[in-house]
Amino acid sequence: MADAQRPLPQPTPETQHYWDGAKAGELRLQTCSGCDHTYFPPRPFCPSCGSRDVKVTKASGKGTLHSYVIHHRELPGFSAPYAIAVVELAEGPRLMTNIVGCKQTPEALQLDMDLEVTFEKQTDDITLPLFKPANGGGQ
Ligand SMILES: [Zn+2]
Repeated sequence: MADAQRPLPQPTPETQHYWDGAKAGELRLQTCSGCDHTYFPPRPFCPSCGSRDVKVTKASGKGTLHSYVIHHRELPGFSAPYAIAVVELAEGPRLMTNIVGCKQTPEALQLDMDLEVTFEKQTDDITLPLFKPANGGGQ
């Protein structure tokens, strides 16, 4: 129930590939050509070895639930309760996101549960990658 608009990120030159990817239905990470490290959030150099020889790679979209907190207070664009989750991607990086497609309760949100990315268009510029239980809802 997003009556009010939730706060949205502003793409920057460093993150444009990520938002373009989300719009295209792809979760994009960056991989270092020097040491093969895959990382997130976007930055123009490898956080592991400092190399600027990095390329944009498409993630599998699969991950597991690493941790979360359930918020019970309404915020613009969110109806409580809702979980702010940290998802550990199959490629290694972790990202903060929301879990959709299941109840926002400790019973439904099991740590290490299998998740897959889903995309929710917010505006013409911003599509948010969210996660839902894998094998949970078909499609
Ligand atoms: Zn590196």
